[in-house]
Amino acid sequence: MHELKNKTEIGYIKQACRIVGELLIYLKEIAKPGVMTKWLDEKAEDFIRKRGAVPAFKNYNEFPSSICTSVNEEVIHGIPGTYRLNEGDILSIDVGVNKAGYFGDAAVTIPIGQVSPEKSKLLNVTEASLYAGIQKAIHKNHVSDISKAIQGLVEGNGFSVVRDFVGHGVGKKLHEEPPIPNYKTPGRGPRLLSGMTLAIEPMVNMKGFEVIIKKDKWTVVTKDGHPSAHFEHTVLVRDGEPEILTMV
Ligand code: MG
Repeated sequence: MHELKNKTEIGYIKQACRIVGELLIYLKEIAKPGVMTKWLDEKAEDFIRKRGAVPAFKNYNEFPSSICTSVNEEVIHGIPGTYRLNEGDILSIDVGVNKAGYFGDAAVTIPIGQVSPEKSKLLNVTEASLYAGIQKAIHKNHVSDISKAIQGLVEGNGFSVVRDFVGHGVGKKLHEEPPIPNYKTPGRGPRLLSGMTLAIEPMVNMKGFEVIIKKDKWTVVTKDGHPSAHFEHTVLVRDGEPEILTMV
């Protein structure tokens, strides 16, 4: 069963989401060539704890860090470490925050210095596909309306949509029903209702859609080694335009 949140719960979820949004802006400012991804993770954990919140990813299924940092061909779930960012990299940062038992979840992919035109287009199209999906997160639509909007934009630009990982409900837990695929599946999927809070998160590969998991058991990479991008927001479904809770 998907969760409908009442006004009080939405208020708490908004607080968690605000921290997520502010943290991503801060991380974008400090992610520069030469910076180690584990330094970004330390800064993120400080930022979250100073706001009286808890990093939701840390220790989730034994994930070791507060954020996921996924570089170039890494799709999602990259573990921050001693890797130093290079000019021309693209870096996906995924953040989850637990504030008073309520959750927000968002991700961005950012260019490190000057990146190639192909990578730049990948970022622009992936972000645009997120907003195309969000526009369909309206009361009485179906999950498949979101999926179709994302897939159409991505494939129309010659890129591919990852199948093995999908968006999800979020709010009282980090992962809730319903799953939100970024590609067409049989049927229309569950109906969206006002009061649902959803993490919509297209993962877009430059070439083939297939992914594999690295030996660290977390990092998801493209099978063909080409780059991948990831954008995500937590949104509130309403009767009319959805509210993007992680946008600050
Ligand atoms: Mg998510």
